[in-house]
Amino acid sequence: MQAFDMIKIERNNKKSGVLTIFLLLIIALLTGSIKLSHAEKKDSKSVGIRTIVIDPGHGGHDQGAGGSGGSLEKDISLNFARILAKELKPDYEVVFTRNGDYQVTLTRRASVANHHRADMFISIHTGGGSRYQMDFWSIFYYQKTDQRNGGMRPEAVGPDNIQDNNQVNIQDNVEDLRLNWDHVQVRYQKKSRALAGCMKTQLAGNPEIREVTVSAAALRVLEGLDMPAIVIETGYLTNPKTEKRLNDISFLTDVAKSVKKGVDVYLTR
Ligand SMILES: [Zn+2]
Repeated sequence: MQAFDMIKIERNNKKSGVLTIFLLLIIALLTGSIKLSHAEKKDSKSVGIRTIVIDPGHGGHDQGAGGSGGSLEKDISLNFARILAKELKPDYEVVFTRNGDYQVTLTRRASVANHHRADMFISIHTGGGSRYQMDFWSIFYYQKTDQRNGGMRPEAVGPDNIQDNNQVNIQDNVEDLRLNWDHVQVRYQKKSRALAGCMKTQLAGNPEIREVTVSAAALRVLEGLDMPAIVIETGYLTNPKTEKRLNDISFLTDVAKSVKKGVDVYLTR
């Protein structure tokens, strides 16, 4: 190899060395910027973008209550959840526990909310059963009772709650975990009651809603939630007048705006 070629190789080596450093710099910058965007995301959450979990009741084989016009609670709750999400999304991060027609266990619903470290959990249901003349909306927050479901309206418990009770009978070993979960929502009882109060004030302002009640109940869907949490029962689907309203998009949009206002008021108290 001639001296000239040696110099050429040396130059080439220098060139590739510079190129390597340049590439490393780009990689470092890219990695840095990715890290930065993560940090920005975290910051934006901490400076005020709150996460609201919407939990459409039932789903799949678990249809919930049924109206005489053929409406099913699982469909009404999902439809309303989507309308509510549209109202909330400009100001909040919205997470669904289900966004389709499939079954989700109560434990899974709570896990989704806890995993997202949500600021609020809103479960959507309708009333049902044989009470076709009932005409009021209900808001529930969690209160532990010694006798589970004692003194509650059975329809407020819901088929999905009953299903989970059966699971617990089969799996006694999860009882300890469940007892721990009980304590989680107990800690939020005051906050959840305040949230229910804010929601009642807003919903009661709707002229199409005759009455709104707030009740404490040992609802399984709420007990493991590590955040303020409520169940909204959007009237009795078994009441034909209510069923008609619950299929009216403009009515549901009005109600969703009221629920959004309830969320806003609670979070800015
Ligand atoms: Zn239900």
